[in-house]
Amino acid sequence: MKNKLTLNRRRFLKTAGATAVVGTSGLLGATGKANAGEGKLATLIDLSRCNGCADRAIPACVSACKTIQQGQVPEPVDPIPVPFPTRKVEDWSKKRDVANRLTPYNRIFVQKAEVEIDGHKRNVFIPRRCMHCDNPACATICPFASNHKFENGAVVIDHDTCFGGAKCRTVCPWEIPQRQSGVGIYLKVLPTLMGNGIMVKCDFCNDLLKKGEKPACIEACPQQALAIGPRGEIFAKAEALAAKTGGYLYGKTENGGTSTLYVSPVPFETLDASLKPGPGRPGLRPVKRRMAETDNLGKAVLAAPVLGVAAGVAGAFAFISRRKTGPGKGE
Ligand code: SF4
Ligand code: SF4
Ligand code: SF4
Repeated sequence: MKNKLTLNRRRFLKTAGATAVVGTSGLLGATGKANAGEGKLATLIDLSRCNGCADRAIPACVSACKTIQQGQVPEPVDPIPVPFPTRKVEDWSKKRDVANRLTPYNRIFVQKAEVEIDGHKRNVFIPRRCMHCDNPACATICPFASNHKFENGAVVIDHDTCFGGAKCRTVCPWEIPQRQSGVGIYLKVLPTLMGNGIMVKCDFCNDLLKKGEKPACIEACPQQALAIGPRGEIFAKAEALAAKTGGYLYGKTENGGTSTLYVSPVPFETLDASLKPGPGRPGLRPVKRRMAETDNLGKAVLAAPVLGVAAGVAGAFAFISRRKTGPGKGE
């Protein structure tokens, strides 16, 4: 994955697993030791700091993310094969500029909730992207094992092996992954019968993290509303901030725990009631862990779709091979 961002970044991890500068926020400006052997990172999103970048056409975090991901989704074929039986093509390639919802070309966007605080109407701005869950149902369900949870907490879809079946979106409590049809490996197999493109979502800027750098959105935020650091420290900071300001937390227990903690001056139920959730625009309801029951089912159940697909592919290749070489004995 190419890093095309030209911002002047400060290295935030000097060496893997060693001293880390925790985020850009004044609240989180201290340096400190990562928990020994933990290696897991987390992010804090302080909604009292985010102003939605009201002075810009596109929020700085969204713009930075768009810049860094340029070229990561391959050009779709034209025409895009219409899949059977859904007959549903999802093509965002001509709407790459869309910035007010999640799309394959827009992995973060900023929601606006209109609420009342102390009798005054106020807007609360909420950057939204993948939460990087501790037990990501999106990765558990993937029949092609194309979705991985990394040691540092990042949940990343491998576009080289993703078939775009969108099961990850179905099981995600926030329906975060977005599909671009007409690209990916499915085109080389059975383009109308198996798959429908690739699924795309925030990858935590994992390539930057591996180099000891901060995600582009965090680096770009002029309000220092976003921060990243060792998980233990971020969790402690988020809880301390919520306690100090009488604020509310989201992300600590949702979906069984995540690597993203929001701290809000108003309850998340209030924010959720003001939002209009829909495709690419997730809500903020409390969420129980999805697919917890799969933990003890074993690999066989999850492997079943793969085996079925593998059998189908093997059958298809055998059929093609027979067509080339003529009918076999008994046919
Ligand atoms: S998180 Fe930062 S960059 Fe993004 S909208 Fe809020 S203030 Fe702007
Ligand atoms: S928020 Fe959704 S897409 Fe992201 S890790 Fe969690 S389940 Fe997966
Ligand atoms: S972490 Fe990276 S991929 Fe995710 S929203 Fe931020 S800039 Fe985009």
